[in-house]
Amino acid sequence: MSEASLLDRVIKNVRVVRPHNDAIELLDLGIKDGKFARIASHISPDTAKEVFDAKNLLGFPGVVDAHMHIGIYQPLDKDAVTESKAAAMGGVTTSLNYIRTGQYYLNKGGSYQDFFPEVLALSAGNFFVDYSYHIAPIASQHIDEIPLLFEEHGVCSFKIFMFYGGYGLHGLSDQQNLFLMINKEERYDFAHFEFIMRGLTRLMEKHPQARDTISLSLHCEVAEILNAYTKIVENDFSLSGLHAYSAARPPHSEGLAICIAAYLAHETNCVNINLLHLSSRKAMEAALTMQTAFPHINFRREVTVGHLLLDVDTPNTIWAKVNPPIRPRADVEYLWQAVLNNQVDWIVSDHACCSAEQKRSAKNPNNIWLAKSGFGGTEYLLSGVFSEGSKRGMSYNHMAKLLSWNPSRRFGLLEKGDIAIGYDADLVLLDPNESFVVRAAESESQQGYTPFEGMELTGKVKSTFLRGNLIYNNGEILGSPTGRYLKRYSSSLSS
Ligand SMILES: [Zn+2]
Repeated sequence: MSEASLLDRVIKNVRVVRPHNDAIELLDLGIKDGKFARIASHISPDTAKEVFDAKNLLGFPGVVDAHMHIGIYQPLDKDAVTESKAAAMGGVTTSLNYIRTGQYYLNKGGSYQDFFPEVLALSAGNFFVDYSYHIAPIASQHIDEIPLLFEEHGVCSFKIFMFYGGYGLHGLSDQQNLFLMINKEERYDFAHFEFIMRGLTRLMEKHPQARDTISLSLHCEVAEILNAYTKIVENDFSLSGLHAYSAARPPHSEGLAICIAAYLAHETNCVNINLLHLSSRKAMEAALTMQTAFPHINFRREVTVGHLLLDVDTPNTIWAKVNPPIRPRADVEYLWQAVLNNQVDWIVSDHACCSAEQKRSAKNPNNIWLAKSGFGGTEYLLSGVFSEGSKRGMSYNHMAKLLSWNPSRRFGLLEKGDIAIGYDADLVLLDPNESFVVRAAESESQQGYTPFEGMELTGKVKSTFLRGNLIYNNGEILGSPTGRYLKRYSSSLSS
């Protein structure tokens, strides 16, 4: 056999988990030029330059973590290195990050024409996994930039933070235009959201062939409800910690926001809507009701691993502050039921690395109101879903669908999401029998703590391959950052 015709690598003895099968097959995977090139029950080692024995471990498609926030609380170039290492150790091979102008991130306003190339420059050469960005149009001028972001940079997914016009990232605020770094004449309100949707509808009309992969994601909470309930709960000393934070941002605020978002999507014919991190029964019920009310809108419903693993009684109180809040156990179990009923489209980490020094108030470290929102967790996404999902009868194939296939389709990553010929050879090997106790000290993340600390999970990631290259093996990140920016639209496909 000539050198040129050899496979680059064969990974032998993989118990392959595919999103559309209802079984698991023991197979050998042949890789060439970063793609799965041969898949068979036996591939001779002589046909490959390198051989890797997977020893009958489960092989999942590389995880697509469709909701992360690289560079929110520490410089983006540094955050990309450490947090994408955390992703790789958890079997994540694609990191999709929400970014915006304003405070945090690059801490500046202005046009995306200037802002986004800076994001890309800070990202280049710093990611251990493949990556892309979802962008939030904050100022009105950003709506006019949507075609540029799509056509030049391949950005096809956008975001609205519904509560930012009148409520802060961490709590009450009357300074939201300063936070968002927009002029005082600007309003980040429902009308702005409507005009964003109209902008996306125009983009879909201009690029009908890409229509299915152009979408809008919404963080659904309503500022007015959060303001009123935060004031009530801050003066009610019978509630504390995560119980108080959940009551201050009550589930019906999510439900109301979902109804408003859905109606606006209907009004503007913005047909692809992603309802992010639904945290409660009321949120999920509102989302399902809106799907029935507006069947022509293609809704997707997202849940995070944090909302599936933690509840308001977690001992790691302050560390678990996040928006929407961690909820009571009854909501957690309702979300699991929705997962099992095929009512959830994907599960993500909402990873936002926030160091302990930043997370807690130095003067009053136990005050939930003063703590910052968000935490990391991409490294526990697969193991968390595997461990808790297995207990509830979730099939491995269903996990592959929610962690890889569904987000890759929605977000235009057409070469990701499955273990099949022609797809990027992104693969994670997991030992279904190995249990471990979560210890932040063992993570590659810079965060230094985790709200999952002390949880015992079953299903450990042993090896991660990115486009056929081993990037993580038995506790070690290998080599240098080789993650690529994923342009999710190519003008060559358009004509
Ligand atoms: Zn988020």
